[in-house]
Amino acid sequence: MASSARVDLDGNPIKPITICMIGAGGFIGSHLCEKLMSETPHKVLALDVYNDKIKHLLEPENAHPWSDRIQFHRLNIKQDSRLEGLIKMADLTINLAAICTPADYNTRPLDTIYSNFIDALPVVKYCSENNKRLIHFSTCEVYGKTIGSYLPKDSPLRQDPAYYVLKEDESPCIFGSIEKQRWSYACAKQLIERLIYAEGAENGLEFTIVRPFNWIGPRMDFIPGIDGPSEGVPRVLACFSNNLLRREPLKLVDGGQSQRTFVYIKDAIEAVMLMIENPARANGHIFNVGNPNNEVTVRQLGEMMTEVYAKVSSEPKLETPTIDVSSQEFYGVGYDDSDKRIPDMTIINKQLDWNPKTSLWDLLESTLTYQHRTYAEAVKKAISQSSAS
Ligand code: NAD
Ligand code: UDP
Repeated sequence: MASSARVDLDGNPIKPITICMIGAGGFIGSHLCEKLMSETPHKVLALDVYNDKIKHLLEPENAHPWSDRIQFHRLNIKQDSRLEGLIKMADLTINLAAICTPADYNTRPLDTIYSNFIDALPVVKYCSENNKRLIHFSTCEVYGKTIGSYLPKDSPLRQDPAYYVLKEDESPCIFGSIEKQRWSYACAKQLIERLIYAEGAENGLEFTIVRPFNWIGPRMDFIPGIDGPSEGVPRVLACFSNNLLRREPLKLVDGGQSQRTFVYIKDAIEAVMLMIENPARANGHIFNVGNPNNEVTVRQLGEMMTEVYAKVSSEPKLETPTIDVSSQEFYGVGYDDSDKRIPDMTIINKQLDWNPKTSLWDLLESTLTYQHRTYAEAVKKAISQSSAS
């Protein structure tokens, strides 16, 4: 329950604040709003074009103990004169708004660049001009490819962490050529990071930059044809969930050899809470937020999701659980991939004393239980309707 007796990491009482959260209706925003409402006294001005994922928090007045602490404003930050006023009303702005699904980076590069750079500019400007603190969501993708990926395949240096562990203050940002439009997102995020950093250095903006490393959990993206477009391609958790729900093989792009570390959304939200409530420790920092212990190849992820889904749904596994597809076929021209993403945790450990807790198996079990409970009936209905027509 909300309590005003909360203390920060240095033992000081935490004063209730007002947060302007842009992109509050998305996957991360919905979990952050839930946490802020159920466990803190803070107020949220929730800005987004959609609110489906936070509807349960916005029910008619007095239905929840937090009804007077959350206010939804339906607006598009591309063109809305209310934005500056809302930022001014708050103590802290958190910007989550972005196009952030890889299928868009090479097929809608202009929208991707505008969304991740141009549309974020006024947010940074208003925070800087009005002396408001900003927590900006960037991405682990700003690291691009590892240095090790450019070494010969048989080089022993590939096993040396110095060639693949990603460090906020040391690692370079390594992107592919311009025609590999996959990197439009990473490049736009990198430039907005540099701009925010420069606003901090030249104009005193109080900022924190978050680099999420594959946060996953309930409410991530959409299931095509159920709560999103049939032809849409969400991120891997939703793609594989969709395949499992429809009892079709999981598609492994280019053999599923890329490696990722996955962190449970609820663990990651704890890290964001520490940033919100410990400004003196978080300001001026860029934080990796991920789980280095949960590394798998995409193929291994697919195999584990198949096991877990069979357990939580009590449905037998398919005889052929996966198939290979080329990236060109799956994403179109201009796709490229990050080979490996291991976050260095030194800075977040030192500043915020944060570590993730949940294993990959456990987070998949709770997430796929949610996916099954939320979508299995709707998917069955959609399949039977399409076979009848
Ligand atoms: P999401 O797509 O679920 O949420 C983004 C939200 O922003 C959506 O609700 C969308 O409607 C809103 N939005 C986009 N453009 C807007 C605009 N012009 N005006 C108002 N609202 C707008 O994505 P998410 O996973 O919650 O990611 C949030 C942030 O974290 C993004 O900046 C993303 O780049 C970053 N990130 C997330 C991950 C992850 O693992 N989930 C990884 C790397 C980076
Ligand atoms: N991927 C896959 N099959 C799918 C969807 C994604 O093999 O149906 C791969 C994708 O090529 C990438 C990884 O899974 O290597 C993670 O993709 P995601 O979209 O989650 O985002 P990313 O981690 O690349 O930002």
